[in-house]
Amino acid sequence: MSNPQNFPIKNSLSKSDYLKAIQCKKSLWFSKNRADLKPPLDDKTKAKFETGEEITELARNYFSGGVKAAESFFDVQKAVNSTNDLIAQNHSVIFEATAIIEADNCHARIDILRKSQNLESWELIEVKGSTSIKESHLEDLSFQYHVFTKAGFKIDRCFLMLLDGKYKRDGELDLNKLFKIGDVTEAVLEKQSEVEANKLDFLKALTRQFEPEVKIGAHCFEKDGHYPQCDFKDHCWQEIPKYSVFDVCHRKKTAEKIVDQIESYRVEDLNIADFPKGIKEIDVRSYQQNKNHIDQTKIREWLDKLKYPLFFLDYETFQSAIPLFNNSSSYQQIPFQFSLHVQESVGGELKHFEFLHQERSDPREEFIKELIRLCTGEGNVICYYKSFEETRNKELAADFPNYANAINSISERMVDLWKPFNDRLIYSPKQQGSASIKNVLPAFTNLNYQGMEIANGSEAMGIYLDFIKGRKVDEAKMIFEL
Ligand code: SF4
Repeated sequence: MSNPQNFPIKNSLSKSDYLKAIQCKKSLWFSKNRADLKPPLDDKTKAKFETGEEITELARNYFSGGVKAAESFFDVQKAVNSTNDLIAQNHSVIFEATAIIEADNCHARIDILRKSQNLESWELIEVKGSTSIKESHLEDLSFQYHVFTKAGFKIDRCFLMLLDGKYKRDGELDLNKLFKIGDVTEAVLEKQSEVEANKLDFLKALTRQFEPEVKIGAHCFEKDGHYPQCDFKDHCWQEIPKYSVFDVCHRKKTAEKIVDQIESYRVEDLNIADFPKGIKEIDVRSYQQNKNHIDQTKIREWLDKLKYPLFFLDYETFQSAIPLFNNSSSYQQIPFQFSLHVQESVGGELKHFEFLHQERSDPREEFIKELIRLCTGEGNVICYYKSFEETRNKELAADFPNYANAINSISERMVDLWKPFNDRLIYSPKQQGSASIKNVLPAFTNLNYQGMEIANGSEAMGIYLDFIKGRKVDEAKMIFEL
């Protein structure tokens, strides 16, 4: 195995670089040469990293007798030397083992390197905080396999270690049930010729004096299971209108084709005749004419079906990769707060009620009791995008069956306020193609989410999760701003 004296990290290809380049070679080049263009890490990304570390730490506890190689992002040589030392000392499970291909300037660090049962070869185990296999996991492991084998390791099997979404916590965490380990050797081997070709292509892009020419397009956006939205989107898209052809078309590949045809990103340049009747036609026409679209008849029909008193209900939830409470699983949405406004009759005054669990414990049973107390009766329960609240109710009913009937009867009374906006019974060009409450609210009222101390559900979720885990949070902010 190679033992380099000096490994130049700047022009080298790591597995993160490799995954970035699969999305876009320009993104790889920027990350190495123009890191200043990258926005600072937001709280959501930081929380994701923290969760990843937490899961990796638990995964290490799963393997008894493992030792950690020296881990240094900037000193690959030190990590390789440390890995080789641990191998020489006959360790059979090494965490963060690192290998390089000097000739190619590639390096990889695997979460767990384990001796095979025959003691002559090794196994690669990559830990992911996900409950299902994603394409990016296979690409990641395929690159690692390539580097380790080229560096002289005999690897006979590759595994992904994921969280088992079916595991429900019952007392102490059971690591044997929390994790599931799947053999993906075949898929990794199938990708090897692709890795070899990609590697050479990406290394060439990396060492260019100027960034490679790559047109903006669908690849700049998140592709679920494959890659996130590109870090450099603000830079590359700075000349593109805030509301563009890419916002009109749900499928980004379709938008790419239209942009090529009309040679413009502007919604003003779309030919309305190219859009069949329906939502998109309304969006484009409304934007081009700068006019609200209002279907008064259908809105009246929708309103006439409502049964008073109305209960306007909204949940806040948090989720944790590691189940925190009994009878909960990885990433289960745990409701901890609701806001309720009750209107007895048409045009009547709104009465406000709310629930916020303020102890560091499972909020669900108290949440359910208060929900039932305040929402029992006749009349529709109005939610914005009701499938969220409905799904939470289904989960609560399954986890707390004593309350199932009462919870289910609340769900049966639910009506979705999102639907008339999503179906374009009413639409403002200010919505810019979205029926999200964040776009609808400022389009029709003087209210908006900007400038609020906690401006979205995921931020509320993060703050509450910190509170539940006993981390230091601004409790005043948490209680009064949610
Ligand atoms: S924004 Fe798009 S074109 Fe620009 S670097 Fe990222 S993926 Fe490439």
